[in-house]
Amino acid sequence: MRVMKLQSSLRQKITLGYLGYYAIALLIVALSLFTYIELRLIEQKIRVGERITELFDATLEIRRFEKNYFLYRQAADFREVNRYAAKVDELLESSAADFTGLALAPQILTVKNEVRAYRALMAEYVRAGIAEPRRAELLEAQIRKVGKDVVAITEGMAGTEQRLIRATLDRFRATLLISIALLSLAMMGIGWMLSRMVVRPLRHMDRCVEAVSSGRLDRIAVPSGDREIISITHAFNRMIGELELRQKRLLRSEKLASLGTMLAGVAHELNNPLSNISLSCQIMLEEVGENEPERKKELLDQIDEQTERARKIVRALLDFARDRPVKREKVSVAALFDEVVLFLKGETPPGVRIVTDIPAGLALYADRQRLEQAFLNLIKNALEATGSSGEIRIGAARHRLTAESFAAAPGRDSRFLGKCYPGAAAVDIEIRDSGPGIPADVLPRIFDPFFTTKDVGRGMGLGLFIVYEIIEEYNGCISVDSEPGRGTAFHIRLPLDAAGQ
Ligand code: ADP
Repeated sequence: MRVMKLQSSLRQKITLGYLGYYAIALLIVALSLFTYIELRLIEQKIRVGERITELFDATLEIRRFEKNYFLYRQAADFREVNRYAAKVDELLESSAADFTGLALAPQILTVKNEVRAYRALMAEYVRAGIAEPRRAELLEAQIRKVGKDVVAITEGMAGTEQRLIRATLDRFRATLLISIALLSLAMMGIGWMLSRMVVRPLRHMDRCVEAVSSGRLDRIAVPSGDREIISITHAFNRMIGELELRQKRLLRSEKLASLGTMLAGVAHELNNPLSNISLSCQIMLEEVGENEPERKKELLDQIDEQTERARKIVRALLDFARDRPVKREKVSVAALFDEVVLFLKGETPPGVRIVTDIPAGLALYADRQRLEQAFLNLIKNALEATGSSGEIRIGAARHRLTAESFAAAPGRDSRFLGKCYPGAAAVDIEIRDSGPGIPADVLPRIFDPFFTTKDVGRGMGLGLFIVYEIIEEYNGCISVDSEPGRGTAFHIRLPLDAAGQ
């Protein structure tokens, strides 16, 4: 069974962070609601507390006027006692619901009964008056006791209420503090998580980009497992690779421009004297008599041979340096290779097989002569590599370059040199031989001018250099895949123009 690997993404993480913050916002709303309800509750309790205090004050007043009445027997004091007792009754009636809510119902009933009894005793006391001093004394003691009880109960009620308010306030404060602490922790946690998962890799990339802008072309190691970061890192590394390649190309074209100017001058200067030497040699050869020593003839032959070689080099240099106008025309790739193979027929040993596999309709819009020159050089090298027996395979196919395929060259560790761009339609050409292959230390230098591993007189080291120049002229690119013992394959990628479709 295939195990699917879930790859995280920055978007997911940021969405997760957002969800976290939304949850916190929701908690804050809930907390505010809770605070509002608690405050309303406390407000209500304070209001009840005020009522109880009023009740307590009224009972104290009753007792004050009761004492006065006992001392001075003033009718006004008795009236006041009755008035405050009625007030107590009325307070108990009007706030019955609030008091019941506070679980004070039994006390209320007791107070109610006690106040009623108190009033009855007071009325009896007034009636007994001075006429019955013994009975009045007894009643006074009873009144004092009942009054004391009522005060004690209302005082207790006030205390209970105060305790209740304090407990509610304590609970409220604790809940609020714990909630604030938890919310702060959650916010800090989400912030830390986002910074770890999102900001850190971005900061790492920022540092790398800064290093690149200051001139260091180092590849970045992928700093996180997020899809976006991975693809940015890959794109960034591709960009660095491209930058490196362009830097090299720029350096190369700068070098080549000055080399070309110098070569053109040198070639012009050399051409004339070489022609003269050659001409003189040929005249001398014709004029040498039969009796001349053999050695002289041999030397003259050598002079002629070497001069011819020098002329060949100069011709190649002149050809390269000349600013020839490019003539573009529709060229059939199959026909082009047929022509080149035919041209090299004389140099192809009987043991070497050249196999071509090119679709008939495939065409390029190019300068036929220049392309022929490039493929001739490549096939000539392949023939020289295969020796007396072997095989050379030539293939071609259409290809649309994608972001991945435009940079990747076929074969191990091989890279395209030149100017291939993604998005273009192109023709991929492969020239593969069964020769000995190219050693790793030789491989990086094969496109350099005058680099050759062949014997003096056989190689000039300009073949691949010219191939590269021609391919680049067509905005194409070339790569080589070779290893000793495995043969060599050159891959050429040339863009298709509208006319070459
Ligand atoms: P030249 O053929 O004159 O040496 P080139 O520029 O054509 O110059 O080639 C440079 C070198 O690249 C050759 O000397 C050879 O070592 C190597 N080379 C090129 N093509 C092949 C091939 N098909 N197989 C093996 N080596 C090759």
